[in-house]
Amino acid sequence: MSGTGLLLMGLAGAWTALAALSYTVGADVWYRGLGCGVIREGPGAGGQLALTFDDGPDPVWTARIASALEAFGARGTFFVLASGARRHPAVVRRLLEGGHEVALHGYDHRPLWLTGPRESCRRLFEAVAVLESILDGQRPRFFRPPWGHFNLAAARCARELGLRLVLWSHAPPDWRARTPAGELARHLREALRPGAIVDLHDAGPGDRPLVLAEVLPEALQLGRSRGLRFVTLSQLLHDDGGAAPRRARPIRQGEATHT
Ligand SMILES: [Zn+2]
Repeated sequence: MSGTGLLLMGLAGAWTALAALSYTVGADVWYRGLGCGVIREGPGAGGQLALTFDDGPDPVWTARIASALEAFGARGTFFVLASGARRHPAVVRRLLEGGHEVALHGYDHRPLWLTGPRESCRRLFEAVAVLESILDGQRPRFFRPPWGHFNLAAARCARELGLRLVLWSHAPPDWRARTPAGELARHLREALRPGAIVDLHDAGPGDRPLVLAEVLPEALQLGRSRGLRFVTLSQLLHDDGGAAPRRARPIRQGEATHT
C-alpha cells in the first residue's frame, strides 16, 4: 500500500475513534460531568426530597420497599427496566396504586456505551411503549440510564419522547454487594437533605436489596423527625401535570416492535 493510502487509512481510523469517543465519553462529560440538561437535585421547598430506586421491578423487593415507604407516608420514584416490567406488570401497577412514580431506567440493563444510535433509540421507544401499555397510556416523565451513562442518540431520543434526564445528588452504596448495614445507614443519613435526589436500588443479584430494606425504616423515621417530606420526582420538581408531557410525540407504528 502506498504512503498516501496508509495516511488515509490512518485518518479514517482516527476519525472513527473520535466519533466513537464523542458518542460515549463526550456525551458523559456533557451530561454527567457538566450536568448540562440533566436533573441532579430539586428546589427542596418545604423540606422535600426524592428517594429513587433503580433496576426493578423485582417480584419480592419492590413491593416490600414500597410498603416500607408507605408506612411512613413517603412516596418514591421507581426507575424500572421495561423487560422486567413486561414480566411483572402487576408489580408496576402496584407502585402506581401506592402513589409512587414509575420512571424509565432502560429496556434492560445493557450499557448505552455499547449500544449504537439506531438501536439505542429503538430500545427507548420500545421501553416507553411497554410502560405505556402497563400504565394505561400514561407515559413516564423521567429517564436515568444504567450506571448513569448516556450516549448522544439516547439523550436526543429520550427528549423527543418527552423524558427528562435524571441522575442523582447522592448515591449510597446499596448497589455494592454486602455493604454493612451501619455503613449504608450512615450514607443515607447524610443524603437526607431538602432537594436531594437519592439513588437506591430495589432489585439486583441475589438478595441485594436486603440491607436497604433493613435500614430504610430508620432513615425514613429520621427524615420525618427532621421535618423532611419524601415525595416523587414530579412533586419535587413541581412537574405534576398528569399524563404525558405536552411536547412528547406519540410512538409511531414500527418504532416499537413488541416481541
Ligand atoms: Zn441500574
